[in-house]
Amino acid sequence: MIRGETGGRNRLGVPSNAVMEPKRTQGASSEVVRDINRRIVLNLIRTRQPISRADLARVSGLQRSTISLIVEQLIQENWVLEGPTGRLPRGRRPTFLRLNDERVIIGVDIRPVQTTVAIADANGKFISQEAMVTLPDPKIALQNLIDCILRMKKSCRGKMIEGIGISLPGRFDHTSDRLVFAPNLAWRDVDLRNPIVKETGLEVELENAANACVLAAVWFDRMEEGRNLVVVTVSEGIGTGILANSQLVRGLNGMAGEFGHVPLDAKGPVCGCGSRGCWEVFASNRAALRYYLEEGSDSSGLSFPDLLSRAEQGDTRAAKALETMAHYLGRGMRMIVAGLAPERIVVVGDLTRSWHRFGSVIEAEVQAQVLPGGCAPRLVPAYEDGMARLRGTVALVLQKHFSA
Ligand SMILES: [Zn+2]
Repeated sequence: MIRGETGGRNRLGVPSNAVMEPKRTQGASSEVVRDINRRIVLNLIRTRQPISRADLARVSGLQRSTISLIVEQLIQENWVLEGPTGRLPRGRRPTFLRLNDERVIIGVDIRPVQTTVAIADANGKFISQEAMVTLPDPKIALQNLIDCILRMKKSCRGKMIEGIGISLPGRFDHTSDRLVFAPNLAWRDVDLRNPIVKETGLEVELENAANACVLAAVWFDRMEEGRNLVVVTVSEGIGTGILANSQLVRGLNGMAGEFGHVPLDAKGPVCGCGSRGCWEVFASNRAALRYYLEEGSDSSGLSFPDLLSRAEQGDTRAAKALETMAHYLGRGMRMIVAGLAPERIVVVGDLTRSWHRFGSVIEAEVQAQVLPGGCAPRLVPAYEDGMARLRGTVALVLQKHFSA
């Protein structure tokens, strides 16, 4: 009943060419089949735009008449616009279709220090953004966030707002709808969704930052071919998002992926989680600043990007601190490689700006302990690093319309 190249589906809205034909479908109502085909066509337009109806039919394997019906519906719903008329040999002049960029998404990236609110169109292009300090009191922080979202909403007059996607610096339990673990953010048991829904009238999707980056990699960077992918976010702490066999792994209570809190040294420094010597106390941005201080340099008021700049300007102590951080990053990744055997590890964080200092050191550490029969993954810095979390929030909102 399904034909096409890829057969298997995942829950991430990964487009494929698999289409369903009502006649041969067992058990699925024609309404379900129509909905699946609609999502497939919408995804093909998203990933191949501008595209003609004829090419949609050719790529999807659906009949021209079916394509026409679906496209008319998508145009009526304002998802798709007809573009200019093309010129092809033999006198044919098809019109090209593209996604309507008047449909927008509000993306929110909450980090322990700073919160960013941005507006993106359905193609993931960011139109505007605003940043504010993340306050330790969740009530005040939430009110500030709502005020900012309302300002942004007001600026979108005339556009259709699809919803709000929020990336969180901790684990979010989708069952209880609560932020359950965020050691670097002093918010406990906070209901973020309901107050925002109530004040803005918009739907809200929440996700852990590293998981959001997995979505961004699959959705925008087309990394779906890598069915086993791990994203490692390196900032105040370390988070990981896991795509295993094309499925996002959330685990019990949404707690999967906390490699950052596996102790590497039980006698190491105290971690925000209450334990000692976790991977993140050795390999996060904070760790690098601590190494710099230990080298005898004054790091008061210094940020991690400042440390990167100092190293680039020839400060050898800064370079040494970053190198120590890189070694620990690689050592910690051995856990991921041994446990999950990913094809690719995507690294997200300010460190990717100085990738020449990190890439080879991390790679050498990982290579040093690949198990017999195992394979070292490809290590890649995230594309458009500063926006990775926000791009993930856009995918978070859109995937429910596009995933088949
Ligand atoms: Zn910890």
